[in-house]
Amino acid sequence: MIDFDAPYRLLIDGELVETAGTLEVVNPATGAVFARCPSAGPAELDAAVAAARRAFPAWRDLSFEERAGYVERIAAALQEHKEPLARLLTLEQGKPLSQSRDEIARASTLSVGMTRIRIEPELIQDDAQRRIELRFRPLGVAGIITPWNAPVNLAAGPLASALYTGNCAIIKPSPFTPLTTLRIGEIIRGIVPPGVVNVLAGGDELGALITAHPGIDKISFTGSVATGKKVMAAAAGTLKRVTLELGGNDAAIVLPDVDVADVAKKLFFAATVNSGQVCMAVKRIYAHEDIYDALCAALAEEARKARVGDGLDPDTTLGPIQNRRQYERVCELKADALGHGKAAEGSAPRGGGYFVAPTVVTGISESDRLVAEEQFGPVFPVLKFRDVEDAIRRANDTRYGLSGSVWSRDIQRAAGIAARLEVGTAWVNQHRHTAADVPFGGAKESGIGRTYSRRGLEAYLEPQVISILKA
Ligand code: NAD
Repeated sequence: MIDFDAPYRLLIDGELVETAGTLEVVNPATGAVFARCPSAGPAELDAAVAAARRAFPAWRDLSFEERAGYVERIAAALQEHKEPLARLLTLEQGKPLSQSRDEIARASTLSVGMTRIRIEPELIQDDAQRRIELRFRPLGVAGIITPWNAPVNLAAGPLASALYTGNCAIIKPSPFTPLTTLRIGEIIRGIVPPGVVNVLAGGDELGALITAHPGIDKISFTGSVATGKKVMAAAAGTLKRVTLELGGNDAAIVLPDVDVADVAKKLFFAATVNSGQVCMAVKRIYAHEDIYDALCAALAEEARKARVGDGLDPDTTLGPIQNRRQYERVCELKADALGHGKAAEGSAPRGGGYFVAPTVVTGISESDRLVAEEQFGPVFPVLKFRDVEDAIRRANDTRYGLSGSVWSRDIQRAAGIAARLEVGTAWVNQHRHTAADVPFGGAKESGIGRTYSRRGLEAYLEPQVISILKA
């Protein structure tokens, strides 16, 4: 078992490493620093890259089954350490403990799920003249850069994909939430050979160094659109392969035939889970005019019932916003929206932590920032439509294209509307379903490439044609 009271350390080449500089980590439920951890710079990055490159040939030469075995052991160890990991995740990230437990469990399940996907060579031609086969070679070393909203889950998919396909990895969590990932590094240390997985906590500048490093072949980046663009530009220097999982401004279109009370509960959860700090949270609701007032009233009731507080309190349903910068941004967007619209809001503790009451905003339009921008908080607009063509046009009128949903009793009709949303995933009568065998990723500026599924695995592999002239 891992000692959760021991000092935090980086994982480089199978060793736990301290650094002279440190990062301070704040508990968002109190606003106070509660832990410090090492902060890696260029020297630690060079050491991690060298270790990963040394470990790569032997790891690459294992079979898929052997590597799946390692990933399964990591997944089992996550389950085994679920309680202390979940508690630490709530302390640094803020989400309710039950959601932290779900995140660890899901990271474990998704990791195993990735290893159930087969990657076989493809036979393109085999006749008297030629045999042509398509094979897949691992890229080498993958840099995995994660954000602060779901640090474990968002590292697990890329890590399992990288390892299973024969790549080594360097994980860099957000400086706001480095601790759970560092402890997971300690857990992984006892499972994989030295250098196969390295964990480096550090600031944004470490991310920039990773994306430009010539010893890294692939970047899996999850974060904001603005940083994603920087990652892509920096990766161009060495033509690294990139998977970018970026922000979203998901619309939910609600048709007039729904069961309003039922849909309001589901939409409220999809808009406010993790206090709205989810890339694929519902961020704009388009409700038909016939049910608009009833839906807004039901959503307002959900907001009043929510319990905002410290994620370690078992009664809490919404934790704090994860960091001060994001808290100020959500407050600013809310104030801006209330300059034109009306709010129905729940309550939140005052002082100390970064608490924001869930807020349903009505009477604003696409020209308001709360509609046009990704709020990443529990404050969301409900907009009215009469003609569904108008709703589709407004839902698509954004540079984001992560996901969206359509809600109706008429599944055929809803599916037809869903297919016209310019997004990577369009759900019907649900929002946020993902699975290891289902590709997930963004259209437009919400990203490039897909995680999960065979497509996600292929992003860690270079296709290679073997073409043999027989005659
Ligand atoms: P962010 O872009 O600020 O930071 C993400 C990570 O990138 C952090 O580890 C950060 O240190 C690092 N970083 C910062 N500058 C960098 C640079 N120049 N080069 C390389 N790395 C750099 O994002 P955030 O604020 O931590 O996360 C919130 C955003 O993430 C939201 O927009 C959200 O929608 C998005 N997100 C997307 C998905 C998805 O799957 N599509 C999932 C979760 C979150």
